[in-house]
Amino acid sequence: MPNDFRSLPSVDLVLSQEPVLALVQSYSRTAMLQLVRQQLDEARRTIAQGGDPPTLSQVVAQVQRRAERAWQEAPRPVINATGVVLHTNLGRAPISKAAIQAAANAAKGYSNLELDLDDGKRGSRQAHISELLCQLTGAEAALVVNNNASAVMLGLAAIAQGKEVIVSRGEEVEIGGGFRIPDVLAQSGATLVEVGTTNRTNASDYEAAVTDNTAALLRVHASNFKVLGFTHAPTTEELVDVGKRRKLPVLYDLGSGCLLDTAQYGMAHEPTVQESIAAGCDLSFFSGDKLLGGPQAGIIVGKRDLIARIARHPLARAMRIDKMSLAALRVTLLHYLKDEAVTAIPVWQMISASPETIRRRAARWRTALGNPCVSLQKGESTIGGGSLPGETLPTWLLALDPSASSCSADALAQRLREADIPVIARIQDNRVVLDPRTVLPQEEKALLKAVREAMESKRTP
Ligand SMILES: *Cc1c(COP(=O)(O)O)cnc(C)c1O
Repeated sequence: MPNDFRSLPSVDLVLSQEPVLALVQSYSRTAMLQLVRQQLDEARRTIAQGGDPPTLSQVVAQVQRRAERAWQEAPRPVINATGVVLHTNLGRAPISKAAIQAAANAAKGYSNLELDLDDGKRGSRQAHISELLCQLTGAEAALVVNNNASAVMLGLAAIAQGKEVIVSRGEEVEIGGGFRIPDVLAQSGATLVEVGTTNRTNASDYEAAVTDNTAALLRVHASNFKVLGFTHAPTTEELVDVGKRRKLPVLYDLGSGCLLDTAQYGMAHEPTVQESIAAGCDLSFFSGDKLLGGPQAGIIVGKRDLIARIARHPLARAMRIDKMSLAALRVTLLHYLKDEAVTAIPVWQMISASPETIRRRAARWRTALGNPCVSLQKGESTIGGGSLPGETLPTWLLALDPSASSCSADALAQRLREADIPVIARIQDNRVVLDPRTVLPQEEKALLKAVREAMESKRTP
């Protein structure tokens, strides 16, 4: 074994090889030195465990792969063929072309982010967006932070720190990624007062729990699960009535926060922000990158005095939205104002695509692939991203039979993930299925190339 260690190439020898030299050129000698050392350390560990020492050319190839993995673009673009419109693992909503442009413009030069061009004095970044939000939702005031989790946390900290907040037991939800309403309340410094039961809560339950120390009534949209059967929850209006009688603000965490009616696309009705405002909620909280179809952001709309209190809280500065997201969000909101949301915003293009349009697209793909193991079948797309649980949209899927490529469905799906632009598919009844609904038009060519290569690939999984 000692001989095996000695047969390893030296760091300098590896660094002097043509392909590694090229990497030194594009990155730096220091960076490559580190990588070569890591690779040789790994080789030593392999040898210590009884493995064979790698040859010089093997080490060079390993160093190349290591550099590629470590320094390639990340997160890498992938093609979402899952049919899940707001796929949290895939970055939720792709934003519109105009929103991308706005974000790029905000990044590439200076901007009047916090400068009032009229008087040359310091302005607020919120000024670029709050009026639009008020116009679209009917709210008096608005504030935007980096995501909805922080928006809710900030709202509670500013309104209810050291006081009680009343929440229905049916709404003490976890939305994923460790965001649990009871924990968020605790972190904000407010005390959770639970009322009702898992399945039934009445407006009177809230009223009975009000004390001198109550700061707010909190309603949370059960965005990622459904309770069926013997259930009851008060309407938002009923809750607002209780709030008015007891002079307490009603806060509503809408989660997705939709501005359009999802029912017109055959799904359940997702509560809209406008409804929440019209019902009289004092504050409504929602995400920028769920059904709104914009960048990651947390939006708070509601009463002027409460928004002002939130804006003054020190946490507001810690959670502030960045200039690129702000610019993209503004353009996204303008799409709604111009009544072009369904045609300009990718997630709404996807949601509104008819089954017939999708079938024609899938059929074109099948023809282009010309492979007898590719077929069309009916299927269902989902919204995902903690919106509209259990709701599906009828779709057509391109089904790939893996047996022709002499591999399993899992192996075929893996080959698709290994493509130049990875394709993320679903497996259903032993077939790999691709849903055109979530594939952007400009991704089609790369998708077809990936499918062709994955199905032709004869290597064993
Ligand atoms: C998604 C969601 C959040 C968190 O929103 P982010 O923008 O992901 O931080 C909070 N509350 C509810 C009800 C949600 O559905």
